Amino acid sequence: MKDKIDLKSCTIKELEKLIESIGEKKFRAKQIFSWIHKGVNDIDEMSNLSKNLRAKLKEHATIGIMKIEDVLISKIDGTRKYLFLLEDENIIESVLMKYKHGNSVCVSSQVGCRMGCNFCASTLEGVIRNLSAGEILDQVLSIQKDIGERVSNVVIMGSGEPFDNYEEILKFFELINHPEGLNISLRNITVSTCGLVPEILDLADKKLQVTLAISLHAPNDDIRSKMMPINRKYPLDELLKACKTYTDQTNKRITFEYALIRDVNDTPKHAKELVKKIKNILSHVNLIPLNKVDEREYDTAKADRIKTFQKILKNNGIEATIRRELGSDIHAACGQLRRKYARNRNNG
Ligand code: SAH
Repeated sequence: MKDKIDLKSCTIKELEKLIESIGEKKFRAKQIFSWIHKGVNDIDEMSNLSKNLRAKLKEHATIGIMKIEDVLISKIDGTRKYLFLLEDENIIESVLMKYKHGNSVCVSSQVGCRMGCNFCASTLEGVIRNLSAGEILDQVLSIQKDIGERVSNVVIMGSGEPFDNYEEILKFFELINHPEGLNISLRNITVSTCGLVPEILDLADKKLQVTLAISLHAPNDDIRSKMMPINRKYPLDELLKACKTYTDQTNKRITFEYALIRDVNDTPKHAKELVKKIKNILSHVNLIPLNKVDEREYDTAKADRIKTFQKILKNNGIEATIRRELGSDIHAACGQLRRKYARNRNNG
């Protein structure tokens, strides 16, 4: 039997194609799209479709569903970590952060990751599979439904390398930005990459208004290649050239993420080296005290080093903020929660 189409992953165009192929009128596509993006997970709840159409639809299509397996809620700031169980039993995590300006959701783009950054927990067991556009969207839909509030911002900074799943990410942009759907402006969406240059350049060409975040983490190739294997393929200068192209094409400021690791990349010398590298790029640096991962050897930079690092950047005209840690009581940084959970399940 042919696999059924997942309505949650469909653009309006794809829905129109499906609808016409079963001999129905095109305008039905918009109705279906609108139901899906309201969070309806059952074709029979689409009350403006006839019973006959619903039955026909069910023959060809289904709605991908993920279940909330667990939620951890921070008593300090209301941050929520969600563990979702996918239809194939894989587990992913997403985070809801509450800010004064609105609710922001951090979504995963893959189950696991194959980029191999040696400070990150998501990549310890490699990649299991890509998430579909529908599964990326569903993290936002499910969280909205759970909290009964609108989500206004999305950051693609959970597990996975979004540009290693580029087609689905582009589709996700189209879905989430659509007026008949959540209608979230692309300006309110941030995609974070460890530095896949061809996709950065392709996105630059598309001139979407998405905010690009680059996981830089080091001021030179020596250090960066030790931490991030991708740097051996696309060294720093090539990556920064692509970043410059992105800002030129989109007029948008890039965010450089820089996780500060004790004695590895956190000294004043490193800060000065970083200034030289990025001073010509329209950017902002987000300094992240490293989240310690049990399986990894690195330690978090000391607070005074972090302050000094920031000061050097600022004194040289580079905007730099230190990331405030949210949900510290439900910690489990970057993919650790999913791993802990999967291990427990496997142990019975
Ligand atoms: N693969 C993408 C997005 C996912 S990771 C990327 O590399 O950008 C999201 C961010 O968390 C990245 O900047 C990543 O480098 C960072 N990160 C991963 N592990 C971390 C840790 N232990 N402490 C601090 N930041 C970490």
